[in-house]
Amino acid sequence: TKDCLAEIEAADALGAFVHKTPEIALERAAAADARIKAGDAPAMCGIPIGIKDLFCTKGVESQAASAILEGFKPEYESTVSQNLADAGAVMLGKLNMDEFAMGSSNETSTYGNAVNPWKIDDRELTPGGSSGGSASAVAADLCLAATGTDTGGSIRQPAAFTGIVGLKPTYGRCSRWGVVAFASSLDQAGPMTKTVRDAAIMMESMASHDPKDSTSAELAVPNFEAMLTGDIKGKKIGIPKEYRMDGMPEEIEQLWADGTAMLKDAGAEIVDISLPHTKYALPAYYVIAPAEASSNLARYDGVRYGHRAKLAAGDGIVEMYEKTRAEGFGPEVQRRVMIGTYVLSAGFYDAYYNRARKVRALIKKDFDDVFAADVDAILTPATPSAAFGLGEMKDADPVQMYLNDVFTVTVNLAGLPGISVPAGLDKQGLPLGLQLIGRPWEEGDLLNTAYALE
Ligand code: GLN
Repeated sequence: TKDCLAEIEAADALGAFVHKTPEIALERAAAADARIKAGDAPAMCGIPIGIKDLFCTKGVESQAASAILEGFKPEYESTVSQNLADAGAVMLGKLNMDEFAMGSSNETSTYGNAVNPWKIDDRELTPGGSSGGSASAVAADLCLAATGTDTGGSIRQPAAFTGIVGLKPTYGRCSRWGVVAFASSLDQAGPMTKTVRDAAIMMESMASHDPKDSTSAELAVPNFEAMLTGDIKGKKIGIPKEYRMDGMPEEIEQLWADGTAMLKDAGAEIVDISLPHTKYALPAYYVIAPAEASSNLARYDGVRYGHRAKLAAGDGIVEMYEKTRAEGFGPEVQRRVMIGTYVLSAGFYDAYYNRARKVRALIKKDFDDVFAADVDAILTPATPSAAFGLGEMKDADPVQMYLNDVFTVTVNLAGLPGISVPAGLDKQGLPLGLQLIGRPWEEGDLLNTAYALE
């Protein structure tokens, strides 16, 4: 813990940790030492970790990287961060992210962007988003592991951009209680770690049934680590043709082919599959996620949390709402709220929101059909490219940024588990990731397949 705290101080330029909690860390580390001495050391005992700023942590700033939550210190602890603390993990502080987890480059954060520890010459790169601080911190060895959240790829894309492992569990595996809501039917917390084994250990500690989240599954949490045998003989791995996009860079094609060959060499059976509605996933996601966000973000009204705008004489409650939200929300969040309220409005609900929900059902059915044909896991690239330069996409057409999520959002729409595993370097020497998608609730099997690919 002390070494990590020193590393964090030395690595301020990465912008990964946005609230540091050394006192809490040292206290928990001492408690962990005592537990180890007493012979009562749970799975994560004494392991220094970072917590994404989206998780509410009792008495510690939890701002979701938004100015509107400035100074907000929750009275309660999220179930996931509590589970980790109960398992002995030591929180070092809170990690940078895109504002309300909306973004793919960590550049919408009110704290300013985090930086990828990987560089090309002197060019600074994005660590990805929205869990960019988590990815940067783990990749730079500031902590041993970090929590992330994934609504449309926010664990898997930054993991791929920084050469680490990121697992989005099945929807319902981790409690959403105390995690600031973005799009409630898509949001899931998950581990971001150096290795698949670490992801298995951390996953087991994070997951639980929680009566405080009505979508949390009433299922036993398996010992995921014990499932890492590396034996994938006879497993059927599907390669979906729809993920072979036009204009896909050759090195991504190559990465995918190499990953396929590795699984085959390990004894898996490779089959070509079709997920016919894939091309509608991104537009459906960018209707559903903003719709849910616009509703979830209605609570930031200047009354209950954080920031309240200064008012002029004669201003009433409407002006207070308007000024507070105009000042407190950044441009990407405002864009999402506007899109969301538009697609939910009486005149456009059927044309957009309802249609997107139908598309979502078809996307889920595509996966159901493939799994019904005995496919065990699906292999795809995690991202369409390696990490891009900071500032490069920020002011471009927002749709360019949204295209980063093309391989990841399907998994959230279908509620499935997905993992990004480091799979080599591109021509410039930057990390690339492969994604494995598994059957619902079979994270153990998925982790084992990822283990064979590692
Ligand atoms: N990049 C996607 C978005 O901006 C995904 C975000 C996420 O998974 N939290 O919505």
